[in-house]
Amino acid sequence: MGNPAGRSEARSEIRSVIDKYGFTFKKGLGQNFLTDDAVLEKVASAGESRCVVEIGPGFGVLTRELARKYEKVVSVEIDDRLIPILEETLCDFDNVKIIHGDCMKLDFAGIIKEEFGDKTVSVAANLPYYITTPIIAMLLEKKLPLKNITVMVQKEVAERICASPGGKEYGAVSVMCGYYTKPEIMAKVPASAFIPPPKVDSAVLNLRVLDEPAVKTNDERMFFRVVKAAFAQRRKTLLNALYNGGFGTEKSVIEDILTRLDINPSARGETLGLVEFAAVSDEFCKIIGKR
Ligand code: SAM
Repeated sequence: MGNPAGRSEARSEIRSVIDKYGFTFKKGLGQNFLTDDAVLEKVASAGESRCVVEIGPGFGVLTRELARKYEKVVSVEIDDRLIPILEETLCDFDNVKIIHGDCMKLDFAGIIKEEFGDKTVSVAANLPYYITTPIIAMLLEKKLPLKNITVMVQKEVAERICASPGGKEYGAVSVMCGYYTKPEIMAKVPASAFIPPPKVDSAVLNLRVLDEPAVKTNDERMFFRVVKAAFAQRRKTLLNALYNGGFGTEKSVIEDILTRLDINPSARGETLGLVEFAAVSDEFCKIIGKR
């Protein structure tokens, strides 16, 4: 991606805000600001709803693109130094609401209800990388009325989320995202597209939220407990990983469940797809859940 002529409206704007406010980036808040106009456009255009929530607006460069395209934008920013800057950079838009707070501590269900009523919402963000997975998990587990989530994340995280069973990239985060969404990498983005450049390359990830989870399970909590246990000790066999997973049952019971489901107890957790995890989880519910 990128502008062949090397010009970027976002880059010059970011530089001028840095100069004007003497802004210094906080590494601990994942402040790597996106400067590539084409990528900003791509993230801003991916929303499938008319309403959008943004996490971490920074100087408001993506927010502005969103404000041009959507009915209403609600943006959550943790850094109090950015609030007066955002008030200035977004002053031309009356369809943007900035909320000062930590996205991990806010009541998103309440905010969405209050700001958007019964409408569905898209999420767009250049995420702070130190909490990428917790943010995605929080958005999905809360079962918010989301259509899709389009986010810039570290390239390796995007690849893990989109990975299929069998490979070393496949893990609990792939299962979680595959359970709730249809994930897709929309673009790879080099570190040079950010100020300051992060140490890693990035990717734009789109998670299209499914109307129903990809597989049926009798107990979602048990499903995710099983998934967590299966991947907690990746080098161990599935049997040992589940046995060490704190379910409080004998190894022979777990072995019996796996054998009955035609799953090799000596296989690794990473070979199981969503359907197999759901089947194991349902059997665990029947036998272990009663105790
Ligand atoms: N949206 C801007 C862009 O695209 O250039 C900035 C993205 S920057 C990668 C991440 C932003 O998230 C920063 O503005 C940072 O202050 C903010 N942030 C970090 N942790 C946050 C949190 N827990 N809740 C809300 N915002 C957070």
